[in-house]
Order: sequence, then C-alpha cells, then structure tokens
Amino acid sequence: MNWKLAARAAKMNPSVLREILKVTERPGIISLAGGLPSPKTFPIQAFADACAEVLHNDGQAALQYAASEGYAPLRQAVADMLPWDVDASQVLITTGSQQGLDLVAKVLIDPGSKVLVETPTYLGALQAFGPMEPHPVGVASDDDGVIVDDLVAKAKDARFIYLLPNFQNPTGRTMTEERRAAVSAAAAAAGLPIVEDNPYGELWFDEAPPLPLAARNPEGVIYLGSFSKVLAPGLRLGFLVAPKSIYPKLLQAKQAVDLHTPIFTQRMVSAVMKDRFLDTHVPTIRALYKRQRDAMMAALKREMAGLDVKFNAPKGGMFLWARLPEGVDTVKLLPKAVERNVAFVPGAPFYAGEGDPRTLRLSFVTASVEEIDTAIAALAQTLREELVL
Ligand code: PMP
Repeated sequence: MNWKLAARAAKMNPSVLREILKVTERPGIISLAGGLPSPKTFPIQAFADACAEVLHNDGQAALQYAASEGYAPLRQAVADMLPWDVDASQVLITTGSQQGLDLVAKVLIDPGSKVLVETPTYLGALQAFGPMEPHPVGVASDDDGVIVDDLVAKAKDARFIYLLPNFQNPTGRTMTEERRAAVSAAAAAAGLPIVEDNPYGELWFDEAPPLPLAARNPEGVIYLGSFSKVLAPGLRLGFLVAPKSIYPKLLQAKQAVDLHTPIFTQRMVSAVMKDRFLDTHVPTIRALYKRQRDAMMAALKREMAGLDVKFNAPKGGMFLWARLPEGVDTVKLLPKAVERNVAFVPGAPFYAGEGDPRTLRLSFVTASVEEIDTAIAALAQTLREELVL
C-alpha cells in the first residue's frame, strides 16, 4: 500500500540523538549517556504491597475506565506536595510529564508559532513540540539560567517560554533565586506565559532549590512534574498544574489522547505514597546520586588535569555538562570513545539553533562509582589522543 502521509508525519524524525547513540549499543560499554534513573532506587517491595492492596480493596475500580483529570486522592497528594498554594482541581494527572509537553504543544502551538527555549534545552521537549510545527527560538543562557535581557528582546508574539529551572536536562544547572525573580517579573510584564518543567527538583544534594516559577505567578505558568525520578519511570506517571483559564483545554486534549492515565497505576502510586513514603524514600535517592556526582567530579578533576576541559558542579539531578577544548567535536569524538568502551551524549542536538560542538552531557546516576572512574579515565584517554592528532 502506498500510504499518503500527513505533512506533520514528516516532522516526526527519529531522534537525532538515538541515531548518534546507536554506536553505544554494544556489550561492555559503560554508558554515561542515558537519562535512566538508577534502578537500585526503585521501591519494588513497596509496589508489590501496594499492588496487592489495590487489587484486594479496589480491584474493580482499579481496572475500570476512570476520570480524565486523574484519581482524586492522587491529585490531592500532588497538590499537598507542592510548595505553593495549589488546589487539587488545578492538577491534571498525565502519562509521564512527556505527555504534559505534548498537551501543552497541542493547546498552545500553531504552525509557525514562536516558542522560546533555553540554550541548550531538553531534546524531548523539542521533539514533543515538533509536530505542531513551532518556530523554536533559543534564549541565551548562562550558568544561572536564561538571560533576562534576551528573553525580553525575544518575548514579543511568543506563545510561551519553556524553562527547566532545577538541575536542567542537559546541563545540570539551576536557576538562581535572583534570576527566577527577574525572569518571573519580566515574563509577567511581557505577558509571556511560562511552561515550567521540573522532573528533577526533588533530587537536590545539599539544599532544596529556590521556589518554582509557578509559585511566584501561578496564573502565568503551566507547571509539569513527574514521578519518574522519585519512584520509577516505567510507571509513566506525571502531572501538570495549570491556571483555571487554560486547564479545560489541556484536559480536552488529554481526553482525546488517552482518555486517562492508567487508573491502576495511579491508585498503586497513591497507595505507595500514603504514610509519607516519599519523605523517607527520596532522601535515599539524593544520597546515592550525591555520592555518584562526587565520584564523577573527582574523576574528572583527576583524569582531565592539564586538558582544557570545563565542567560544572550540579547541585542535584542526574547530569553534568562539560565543554572540551577548542576544535573538538563531540559527535565525532563519540565513536572513538565507544572504541574505549565509554559513551556520553554530544551536546549539539540539545540546541534549538546551531549547537556548540564542544559540549557533552554525562549522566552520573546509572553507572556505579567504579564504572564512573573507569569511564572518565577512558574518556580522558580518548581526548588526549584526539588532541595529539
Ligand atoms: N522533562 C525533562 C526535562 C526530562 O528530562 C524528562 C525525562 N527524560 C521528561 C520531561 C519526561 O519525563 P517523564 O515523561 O518520564 O515524566
């Protein structure tokens, strides 16, 4: 059959990254590439207990169709968890926060709509927005977050700005309190809506990050959250918090996509979360990831000594961002690193415009401390070789 594809299907390219990372699918590779939470943190027994409990107590309801907004006790738990005044009626349970991005795109983007993003930004968001055919525009960013003057200069006619203030994917950076205040004020003054994505906010190491942008101007922000990094990504469970003015449209978009997020999963997570389970569980994830971050930074300092390699010190989350010396292209470096059994993610695909070829993202959470040491040594060796040639 000769299928005639919709024009939008042409926008659904395989992720550039997935193509690049194909070389990493080889046995023996230590991958610092993937964005996978550590499976050691998945609370399997708590899920087994909750699963039995839900089936035993509410089996029929748990296996029936359910409300598109989500399971009421879970919506309430989300509202209670957030550090600003949220009414449960503003919470929409989503099938991962990735679905939140899809819903936002469907409701807010027309072909050609200007959408502002950080430089660099989460590739999965660019992919989710893509089929709605936006015109993504990168706003200059530094270690403290987006640069306010550039945001103001580009705000006119933009549908929204997509921001990741906490432990950003891919850079691991965190927007400072001062920058949040300035961004929030500038966006409000320009009438620019904000889409705030915060899947990593709970994974802080020494101190909680500043309040979300949504807490400062709830009417101007759609906030996306996720259970992927604090419980398990395979649940595909996330949520969004939207102002009353836009909530019904997001809900209608969600109804059309999947009617509702699996109610069995929602009830199970709700059961897991009772008795403040996350209060004891999340600190164990923070402690593990902090140890791994420390190991990666120590290895980088040791192994990259004398090489002109810059890297940041993420205060939470899963990723560290590095910039290699002048002339190095990380897309070309990757296959050589893979020869030495280490994989990373080149940074360039994360940019809305032209990417910085010298950048790369390293995940410090999936590999063990020993593997991190081996991998960073191998990466330094690859780089030394590259610089000599
Ligand atoms: N936003 C960001 C910034 C992410 O890094 C991810 C996961 N890679 C997501 C959203 C999607 O997360 P999930 O759908 O698992 O909630």
